[in-house]
Amino acid sequence: MIVYSRKQFLKKSILLASTLSLLRGGSEINAKDAKSKKENPLPEGESPVSESDPTAQALGFHQDAKDTDFNLYPDRKSAQAKHHVCLSCAQFTPLNEGWGKCNILTAGVVSTKGWCSAFSKKS
Ligand code: SF4
Repeated sequence: MIVYSRKQFLKKSILLASTLSLLRGGSEINAKDAKSKKENPLPEGESPVSESDPTAQALGFHQDAKDTDFNLYPDRKSAQAKHHVCLSCAQFTPLNEGWGKCNILTAGVVSTKGWCSAFSKKS
């Protein structure tokens, strides 16, 4: 029979809780990512523009406009801004239903639901 001291028991409990938390968090992220890819498959051979790309960051770009930093871009809270997404931007060329090319962020594809501060409405 294995006998743990109170200190050993606490250490093992904390380690187990941390491991379970990481596993759970990872599976939620993977589930969200998988759902997103299933809904809008990437065009073959393409990868999404990284939100951590320096140009993307400078323009406040997010693949989902709902993730915009509303403190930096308060105008994004307006009702009309809801329709200002990559799909309706003059810089956007669609590749499929969910993704397209942006003339400004060229290191991959952008989601039709994306937005950045260089948005200009298609005429
Ligand atoms: S310029 Fe237009 S298409 Fe390109 S990321 Fe910004 S909003 Fe999207």
